[in-house]
Amino acid sequence: MTGGGASIPSIEKQAADRAAHLRAVLNRANRLYYVEQRPELADSEYDALLRELQDIERRFPDLLTPDSPTQRVGADPAPEFAEAVHPVPLLSLSNVASREEFEAWLGRVRDLLEMDEFEMVCELKIDGLAIACTYENGLLRRAATRGDGMRGEDVTANVRTIRSVPLRLTGKDVPTIVELRGEVFFPIAAFNRFNKELEEAGQPVYVNPRNTASGALRQLDSRKTASRPLDVFFYSIGYSEGEPPRSQWDALQAIRRWGGKTNPWNRRVSGSEGIAEAYQDALAARPDLDYGIDGMVVKIDSIELQARLGSVGRDPRWATAYKFPAEQARTRLTAIGINVGRTGSLNPYAILDPIMVGGVTVSRATLHNAQDINEKRIREGIDVIVQRAGDVIPQVVGPAEPLTPEQAANPYRLPDRCPVCSEPTVEPEDQAMTLCVNSACRAQFERLLQHFASRGAMDVEGLGERVAQDLARRGLAGDVADLFSLDGKRDELLEIEKMGEKRVDNLLRAIEAAKSRPLPRLLFGLGIIGVGSEVAEWLSRRFRSLAGLEEASAEELLEIDGIGPVLAETVHAWMSNPNNRDLLRRLREAGVDPVDDSPEPPADHPVAGKIVVVTGRLDAMSRAEAQSRVKALGGKTSGSVSRKTDYLVAGADAGSKYDTAVRLGVMTLDEAQFLRLLDGAEPVPAETAKVSGEAAHLPPLL
Ligand code: NAD
Repeated sequence: MTGGGASIPSIEKQAADRAAHLRAVLNRANRLYYVEQRPELADSEYDALLRELQDIERRFPDLLTPDSPTQRVGADPAPEFAEAVHPVPLLSLSNVASREEFEAWLGRVRDLLEMDEFEMVCELKIDGLAIACTYENGLLRRAATRGDGMRGEDVTANVRTIRSVPLRLTGKDVPTIVELRGEVFFPIAAFNRFNKELEEAGQPVYVNPRNTASGALRQLDSRKTASRPLDVFFYSIGYSEGEPPRSQWDALQAIRRWGGKTNPWNRRVSGSEGIAEAYQDALAARPDLDYGIDGMVVKIDSIELQARLGSVGRDPRWATAYKFPAEQARTRLTAIGINVGRTGSLNPYAILDPIMVGGVTVSRATLHNAQDINEKRIREGIDVIVQRAGDVIPQVVGPAEPLTPEQAANPYRLPDRCPVCSEPTVEPEDQAMTLCVNSACRAQFERLLQHFASRGAMDVEGLGERVAQDLARRGLAGDVADLFSLDGKRDELLEIEKMGEKRVDNLLRAIEAAKSRPLPRLLFGLGIIGVGSEVAEWLSRRFRSLAGLEEASAEELLEIDGIGPVLAETVHAWMSNPNNRDLLRRLREAGVDPVDDSPEPPADHPVAGKIVVVTGRLDAMSRAEAQSRVKALGGKTSGSVSRKTDYLVAGADAGSKYDTAVRLGVMTLDEAQFLRLLDGAEPVPAETAKVSGEAAHLPPLL
């Protein structure tokens, strides 16, 4: 009897709630993974949650929403690059994580085809990022990332620096137009070296070769890409003019014949035994490869059968990724340590008895926050399962054995005093974190110093985490202004471990060079809460110097578009604090006193105060340049179109943003109109024809 209490929700309601929860978790994970490149979930955790959502949507088709993460691939292309519309979408791959799941996949394919026997191609699943290279008359014309599958980023200049990408295809049978698809990757040995250098410089390390390859390929300066050892394997023909290949195997042979690099491991098999054998071979090959693989891709060989199978959501039905198991190990979690961040946040991490997982000794693992620790039922002093799943950063999965009732009843709590300065901590109501609010806390200062010296701020090369710690702990720097008197402390600097004459010289030279950084970088580097690089730009443009900003009242700060009362008050309070004033005075005395002399934007310029979105490819300038010109004239830019947008600038190949603008009635400008606007001419509403790009001339879809 339920005794008249709340009724049990129906199965549908439970499924709907769970689906909504999964969508929220997966959307957040996608953003962290694709956009911010700092995943918090292990890939295997992500995959399991995605499969659960797909399962629910299969059972309850009404719950399928068009924006569900099961329906979209990757993420929106970044606004810094010209958009590249894919004539044939680049899909993702479904994945299976065990023999049973693979057999179930194969069973579905057999049922759909009403066939038992057909050939399949097995390929290594390279841990990099997809690239689509279009060749016209044999010449490389365009290379694009996958983006959201329909639209990627045009990274042609960067891809041209990869030596294994042919700039010209050769052979009599090269189609007039052909798109080769492949995976760009960062070789492992080079990845480890690269991460080691970052670590030594105190910079954050990359999580896996895939994020690193993605970062390298999406550099705005192709010289940077050229300095990274990227490589490629081509694995399919996206589309081609003329007679297409009849099978995946033929496509691979053709790509090779034309000079494209394909993976020598590829093989064609039939039947589930053939697949099982190939899978074991792939697992065995893995440790000796100089590139990361996280599974084996199985593709139905015949293109005709592929066409019959089609795709569902974001995945073709004719292929799947047969993933390798996550590499796991059991060890003791001896304690939970705490790092104190620059803004005073207490960040827990696991201290583990060292253990080998997937060829790497692991003794530390990040734990995100107290809530995450407790959701995973992690406690100090218990045995846990640690895993690496294609990732370099290991994760604690959970307890190796069920918790005792006593352990279960004692959730983990972050300390109520800062582990570094022992001052009481606070837990702001609206944030899932615990903070040390003592601004004199040494740990915070070490982080601040590191931030001050970081690339986006004062860019002091050689001043990374380790050096920042040494300077702070040895009392060589008590605040950021002290950096500029380090030249008088050479002998003390030489006492620091690994600091020879040469490194000290380099450090002092880098500090000297930092004196001439522009004002926005200095303001950003000061680490005032809420002052990111963009706000720093606004402050710099409005108040022009440190002295100007010190004199600014909270009301004047509030006059800046985009600055609200809380931020205005924070900045004002920071600038009025006597210790901070003293710091600024000492910076100025040391010669760190940049002045912003960028010309004042005319207040009546038609762009002033307007929100502008730039999309597509412009001829006269890059998108980044267009955006900075708008900002310099007092306008604002945004990456997405909404009702608040004043102008959408549509270059060639403008895509969905153009459609959205038209739907919302936002005024659209073509490049010529935009240039006139920059010159100060008030735009006249006009019917702008959609700028048609190359895609319009491409052959029909395969
Ligand atoms: P995917 O990487 O699992 O599979 C599709 C991709 O595989 C293709 O786009 C292609 O780039 C690549 N690939 C490599 N070798 C290939 C070959 N021989 N043939 C065809 N394709 C090949 O799918 P995805 O959509 O790129 O990303 C989803 C994956 O990313 C998930 O499996 C998940 O593990 C990971 N992810 C993780 C998080 C997280 O929070 N940890 C978040 C989002 C995504």
